[in-house]
Amino acid sequence: MNTRETLKVNSEGHLEIGGADCMQLAKEFGTPLYVFDEQHIRDMMRTYRNTIEERYDGNGLVLYASKAFSCMAIYGIAKEEGLGIDVVSGGELYTARKAGFPADKIYMHGNNKLPRELRDALDYGVGCIVLDAASEAKILDGMAEESGKVQDVLIRINPGIEAHTHAYVQTATPDSKFGFSVANGSALAMTEQVLAYKHLRLRGFHCHIGSQIFEKQSFVLAAARCMQFIADVKAQLGFEADTLDLGGGFGIWYAEGDRKIAPSGYREYLVALIDEIKRCSEALGVRRPYLLIEPGRSIVGEAGITLYTVGAIKEIPGIRKYVAIDGGMFDNPRYCLYQSRYTALIADRADAQPTEKVAIAGKCCESGDLIGVDMPLPEAKIDDVIAILSTGAYNYSMASNYNHNLIPPAVLVKDGKAKYIVKPQTYEDLTRRDVPWEELK
Ligand SMILES: *Cc1c(COP(=O)(O)O)cnc(C)c1O
Repeated sequence: MNTRETLKVNSEGHLEIGGADCMQLAKEFGTPLYVFDEQHIRDMMRTYRNTIEERYDGNGLVLYASKAFSCMAIYGIAKEEGLGIDVVSGGELYTARKAGFPADKIYMHGNNKLPRELRDALDYGVGCIVLDAASEAKILDGMAEESGKVQDVLIRINPGIEAHTHAYVQTATPDSKFGFSVANGSALAMTEQVLAYKHLRLRGFHCHIGSQIFEKQSFVLAAARCMQFIADVKAQLGFEADTLDLGGGFGIWYAEGDRKIAPSGYREYLVALIDEIKRCSEALGVRRPYLLIEPGRSIVGEAGITLYTVGAIKEIPGIRKYVAIDGGMFDNPRYCLYQSRYTALIADRADAQPTEKVAIAGKCCESGDLIGVDMPLPEAKIDDVIAILSTGAYNYSMASNYNHNLIPPAVLVKDGKAKYIVKPQTYEDLTRRDVPWEELK
C-alpha cells in the first residue's frame, strides 16, 4: 500500500497535497477550490476492503456512505475499488446511476424516502433498501408486487448506544428520528411486520450509532447489541438474519487534540468489530452475518482540503482579528452547524509557526459565517492562500448558493496532477431555473 503522506511541505515551504503545490493549484484553478487526493481515498477504501477480506473471509462489503461527498467521480473510484455505496436520496441514486454504479451494490437509506425515490430504487434494481418506517414497508411491498419483484431489505434498528460525539450527530440514542428502538420492543414488532410482507425479503438489520467517533468501544458495543438482537429475533420469531450492517462513523483528524490515524490504522476499528461479531456468533449460537460497514467521513474527509484567498482583514482592538476569505458557509457550513474545529495553514509558508489566533470569516451576510474562531495562524496578508484541512467530507455535499455565491469546483490530484471532478458553476447557473418577471406579467 502507498503510505505516502497526503499533505506535506515542500522545499519552498509550500503546502502540497498528493504531490501538487497548493500555490500552483490556486493559480491554475482559482479559489475557493476543493482539492482531493485520490491516493488517500483509495488507501482508505482498500484498508476497509482488505480487512474484511483477511479477517472475515471476504464475507461482507464496504459501502461508501456517499452523502459525505457525492459526485460522479467518487462513485467511479468506489466502483473501481470494489466497494458498494449507500445513497440516501433520489438525487444521490441518480448520480450513482449516471456514473454507471452497479445497482446490486447500492443500498438505499433515509428516514422518509419519498414514494418516487422508492420507485426509482426499485426500477434501477438496487441491491437493498434499508427500511426506517412501517408505512414505508407497506408502500414498498405494494410497489414491489406491482413490479413483480421481491426486494431485499434491512431494518434500521436503534441499539441505544450513546457515542461520545457532538449531540447533533448522535443518531442511535432513544430519542432519534432514525431506526426502531430495540429497548422498547418496536424493532421486534417491525421485524414481525416485515416478515409478513410477500414482496419484501428481510436480510437483516442495520444500525449507525453516530459520526466522528473515536471510541472503538462504542462500535464494539453496538455490534454486540445487534448480535444479541439477531439472537432474540431468532428465538422469538424463528427468523435468522443473514446480514448485519453496522454503519459508519469512524472519526478523523481535524485539529490539535484529535487522534491522527493513518489510512492503514483504520484497520483496527474493523478488526475490533469483526472479532466481536465472531465472539457473539459463537456465544449466541447464530450464524456469522454478511457484514456491511458504511464509512463516509473517514474515506474522504482527510483526503480533501479547501483553498481560499485572503481578502479583508479587520482587527478589533482588545477583541479579535477577523481574516476574511473568498468562501464561507456556502462551501463549508460545518462551523455554523456544529461549531466544528478546523486547522488553517498559509499555503506558501505552511511550516511557519502560528503567531496569533484569528477568526476566519466567510463572505456571507451572516455574523455567524465563520470557518472558526481562535484559529492559530501566522500573520496573514491580503492575497495569501489559506488552506483549511480535512474538508473532504460534508463540505461540498452541504454547500449551497447562499447569497448567490458560486459553489466552488473540485479537483482531484493524482501523482501531482490535478483535474476537475466538479467544474466551476457560472452565474448563468444561478438564474437557469428562474422565470423572468417579464414572462409572468
Ligand atoms: C452518515 C451515515 C453514514 C456515514 O457516516 P460517517 O460518519 O461519514 O462515516 C453511514 N451510514 C448512515 C446510515 C449514515 O447516516
